Amino acid sequence: MTENGARIQWQLCVIDAIVQQTPSIKSFFLRLSEPFAHIAGQHVDVRLTAPDGYSAMRSYSIASASVASATIELAIERLPDGEVSAYFHDVASIGDEIEIRGPLGGHFLWPEPAVDAALLIAAGSGLVPLMAMIRQRRVLAQAVPTALILSARTAEDVLFSEELHSIESNDPAFVLALAITRERPARKSDFARRIDSAIIREVLIRLHRAPTQVFVCGSNGFVNIVTDGALLAGLDPTIIKTERYGG
Ligand SMILES: Cc1cc2nc3c(=O)[nH]c(=O)nc-3n(C[C@H](O)[C@H](O)[C@H](O)COP(=O)(O)OP(=O)(O)OC[C@H]3O[C@@H](n4cnc5c(N)ncnc54)[C@H](O)[C@@H]3O)c2cc1C
Repeated sequence: MTENGARIQWQLCVIDAIVQQTPSIKSFFLRLSEPFAHIAGQHVDVRLTAPDGYSAMRSYSIASASVASATIELAIERLPDGEVSAYFHDVASIGDEIEIRGPLGGHFLWPEPAVDAALLIAAGSGLVPLMAMIRQRRVLAQAVPTALILSARTAEDVLFSEELHSIESNDPAFVLALAITRERPARKSDFARRIDSAIIREVLIRLHRAPTQVFVCGSNGFVNIVTDGALLAGLDPTIIKTERYGG
């Protein structure tokens, strides 16, 4: 159901392209049969059905900006023993038809008109809805001061790394801080540990403006730890929005 109670129908879409983004995350570009407009931060449900009728459904955030387009990008992380993510990584091919419904989600949304300043915090594929927000901000040429703190095990596990570094170099109002947990980061401005309140405090100084919205996305454990850290760093709980991927 949508916010206003309308039922969202399932539709078939075709996998137009697949891109290996990191060792464990692939992007899937899906051509919709019934194009929709979404808000950055929303997700779709994906339903896989086997020939014997068994079906599995999971949610995946939309990585694309909310421009009118018949194609959306999903970025799916392969989880050890994961049912649906393993299907996407090992079986799904270009030209395959997939059932989806959406757009869904009414709370984890890039605000329009834009906020004064935003802090985005993610781990791994938790970046996906935040990337839609970052891309949306670029498409609308918004100068909203925005900082992204992104946790990844190694540099090669940083999703959309090239795009994020390019935005950082071209946009003085965008701050990128990586928290690399299993190797020494190459840049002095990045951190060699998990995200904690000290990292959040430091990045808030670099943002030069108090955020009016904070978005946190990742596994349950990650969201809990980061939310505690954000509160310790002095952020107001009423401005913190979270999206939990499970686990
Ligand atoms: C709103 C929403 C948006 C999401 N967007 C994305 C997205 O953009 N990209 C993406 O890769 N995933 C996303 N997810 C997670 C996704 O829906 C699935 O949960 C994930 O792909 C695992 O499904 P699976 O069938 O592969 O694993 P399952 O077979 O369901 O689970 C396998 C094992 O992994 C554990 N597990 C499940 N989820 C996680 C997790 N996130 N972290 C750690 N362990 C976990 C389970 O407890 C289980 O032990 C989103 C979830 C939600 C609720």
